[in-house]
Amino acid sequence: MSTAIAAIPAFDYREQFAAIEDEIMAAVRAVLGSGSLILGPRVADFERDFAEFLGGGCTVGVGNGTDALAIALRALNVGPDDEVITVANTAVPTISAIRMVGARPVFCDVDRATLLMDFHDFEARITPRTRAVVPVHLYGHAVDMPALGELAARHRLAVVEDCAQACGTTIDGRHVGTFGDSGAFSFYPTKNLGAYGDGGLCFTRRADLAEIMRQIRFYGRDERGECVREGMNSRLDELQAAILTVKLRHLAEHLAERRRVAATYDALLAPHVERPRIAPNIEHSFHLYVVLVPRRAELCDRLRAQQIGYGIHYPQPVHRQRGYSFLDCEAGTLPQTEWAANRVLSLPCYPELSRDAIERICQVVNDHCQLGT
Ligand SMILES: *Cc1c(COP(=O)(O)O)cnc(C)c1O
Repeated sequence: MSTAIAAIPAFDYREQFAAIEDEIMAAVRAVLGSGSLILGPRVADFERDFAEFLGGGCTVGVGNGTDALAIALRALNVGPDDEVITVANTAVPTISAIRMVGARPVFCDVDRATLLMDFHDFEARITPRTRAVVPVHLYGHAVDMPALGELAARHRLAVVEDCAQACGTTIDGRHVGTFGDSGAFSFYPTKNLGAYGDGGLCFTRRADLAEIMRQIRFYGRDERGECVREGMNSRLDELQAAILTVKLRHLAEHLAERRRVAATYDALLAPHVERPRIAPNIEHSFHLYVVLVPRRAELCDRLRAQQIGYGIHYPQPVHRQRGYSFLDCEAGTLPQTEWAANRVLSLPCYPELSRDAIERICQVVNDHCQLGT
């Protein structure tokens, strides 16, 4: 019965690369011919351009998004004996970073409508040891930062925003990452602004904090090369910085395409297909387009049969993963998080996705959801 149908991947960078290949290869050739591969002019150029994109402030290019979070926490003096509140429906690296500085992650539940940090539960989890909060702008959505900023100030907590999935997301026109003490970005290839390898960046409005971050990323050295604090090695390299500078020039157009894809899903999915609620003052960047579905495994089978890629972000919240069993968070302690983990499904969402492909995907999802819940 099957006529050949084209596969729709969950993600593939190659079509986009083909469209900008000449610009990318010229940038790569220029770096390799320049004699400078580490912390040279391309990293400085990219840091300047990315700061401008965010509307001003200080930027420090680092090795990856996990390190960006850890370096921000370390620069803010978060360390052993401190508790850091975050969510469990996030990528594991949010928690890795908290553990890298020796602090203890404390999980708060999420709001069922938005799947983002629940502020009531957040306040309930604050103790005298709480030093910081890491809001996660999951899927490209945005935590209500003005509200969280007030709560954090009242309890004297540092705020490090996990913007790994939310490059380009704004609240009332202001970029996420610029509200807290620091914002951490990832340039992992699948992210909204993806390198062709690893990369990350710390944003802060405070020049003193940026200087500390610059020292930490490079063995703790100051500009003269003296080691003035304990550091690590987490440098953005010149090749990735040059590639990112090219891709940043196309970011506005790629974000517009992601929003076009999301708007098409919004229009074509049946109204009863559940999706996270987005407040009108938030401009979502749609790193992922997520639906909440009953009988998810069955729908995944149908998608696979139709050669449609998908993702699950995330099937197991971090507090239920074996590697973090030492945190002793029992099942049932984060009821909304656990409820969502059984239902979330990420549909293909990237700038190059065609309307035909989206129509095919929506047909499968709508058929599945019509079967009753
Ligand atoms: C991707 C991601 C990270 C980590 O970024 P890397 O560059 O892979 O280290 C952190 N937090 C979230 C929410 C992410 O999606």
